[in-house]
Amino acid sequence: MAVAKFEVPELKEYPIIPKLQKDAMAHSAPYVAKEQFQTPLGYPGELIDNWKEVAIEKMGELTNKYRSLSVYLDSCVKCGACTDKCHYYLGTTDPKNMPVARQDLFRKVYRRYYTLAGKIMPKLVGAEDLTEEVLDDWYTYFHQCSQCRRCSVYCPYGIDTAEISMAAREIMDTVGKGQKYCNEIIGKAQVLGNNLGLPEPALANTLEGLEEDIEDETGVQVKMPLDVKGADVLLITPSADFFAEPHIDGLIGYAKVFHEAGISWTISSYASEAANFGMFIGSYENMQKLALRIRQAALDLGVKRIVFGECGHAWRVAYSFLNTLAGPFDFLDQNYPVPQHICEVTHGLIEDGTIKLDKSRNDHMTLTYHDSCNVARASRMGDTPGGQFTIPRDIIKASCNNFYDMPEHSIKEGTFCCGGGGGLLTDDLIELRVKGAMPRMQALKQVTEQNGVTHMAAICAICKSQFSKIFPYYDFQMDQIVSVHQLVSNAIVLTGQTDGESDDEDSTLDDVESA
Ligand code: SF4
Ligand code: SF4
Repeated sequence: MAVAKFEVPELKEYPIIPKLQKDAMAHSAPYVAKEQFQTPLGYPGELIDNWKEVAIEKMGELTNKYRSLSVYLDSCVKCGACTDKCHYYLGTTDPKNMPVARQDLFRKVYRRYYTLAGKIMPKLVGAEDLTEEVLDDWYTYFHQCSQCRRCSVYCPYGIDTAEISMAAREIMDTVGKGQKYCNEIIGKAQVLGNNLGLPEPALANTLEGLEEDIEDETGVQVKMPLDVKGADVLLITPSADFFAEPHIDGLIGYAKVFHEAGISWTISSYASEAANFGMFIGSYENMQKLALRIRQAALDLGVKRIVFGECGHAWRVAYSFLNTLAGPFDFLDQNYPVPQHICEVTHGLIEDGTIKLDKSRNDHMTLTYHDSCNVARASRMGDTPGGQFTIPRDIIKASCNNFYDMPEHSIKEGTFCCGGGGGLLTDDLIELRVKGAMPRMQALKQVTEQNGVTHMAAICAICKSQFSKIFPYYDFQMDQIVSVHQLVSNAIVLTGQTDGESDDEDSTLDDVESA
């Protein structure tokens, strides 16, 4: 087990609603962004003198612009249904991590300045002035929300704390109190095209190295094309796919799928990032800048399709907002969804028999699947409701013989966040990340003990990075998290492959359905 400077939650046999511990996480806040990370995004370098007036004005602007936000603020009836639904509350026991309490940090200020009752008799309606103490609370607790939207599933009014958290962060950025981790990354992506700050020569070098690795392993020349004009598909994938396991194994999987299906494809060095952290800070303008890079890359390369790799929030931005942010994409082939997810591509190719998978090559693993929040609750795949749940599972089941789902309350719409989403995947929040992962670890432990599960697959770069980091705190091994396309990569039967062949019959989606 990893050594922690804080108490790691105990994994119980079944979920227990913890006793409240006031201010249990009041000490946890991420580093504040310095001027060099604030100003490139158009924000003040430090807390401005008239921050209070500017913050209140920005709040009014946002509640006017986003009607959903004002509806969420006006409609909570304090029924309490959301209180035990947040993984950060369950893992930290801090009452301010109950979704309704988190919302109220914002709501009480909104009431004070934007409702008649709050202006006349604030105390009676729970309205409060915006003070420095309140601002500090905002910074602390709106950075203890991964914007996972689980609470909204259980709220009878569908109140989405994630949107309130995004609005709070946008207001804080506007007055000069931004978060270092997110803003530094957004700046890098806007200048260099990816979150890692990886320049074109380093990217080209990495991709060449991967081509050699695949050829050594399989004897097949599988290409990792970069900046190829006229390719059919532009692959937009999280930059984690270029440098670290298990992400990189997923990238190898996409390349093998494209190769075997005979689809010409390319990565762009100008837009080499799927992740769009602009969403985490609630900034339409910063989200749009990154989305426009993707559009420009597609135009410059003359591609016909845009396909997104395994990244949860990137898929939300792509699926839900890309056309609004950077459309119309009428120059692409309208016979394909715009944009498309790599899982949709692979699923279709398995379904029509274009690619063959030998499940036995994954027999050393027993799998479960972690639904990533932004895929599960903020997007969809395929053309039937719930496709975001069935398509990845179908691919896994077509790629391996041993699969078990985690308990029902912890998957699909009810999935628990990995604990590191929403711009919180930074070492200065490690205590929060470990504690917030507790409900997911509990569910994983259950299938490990009951079904012999050895590995968990995911289609989100943040989830994969988070699990690699926090698994050791719960007695799991870092490499027990795998990419879905890593399983495909192991199982895919490449034409001309010289090793790893098996006598087992290849699997199809029909086998999955009958499994
Ligand atoms: S959106 Fe997720 S992290 Fe935020 S309060 Fe709701 S359940 Fe918690
Ligand atoms: S479930 Fe919805 S209405 Fe009930 S307390 Fe939570 S946010 Fe308010």
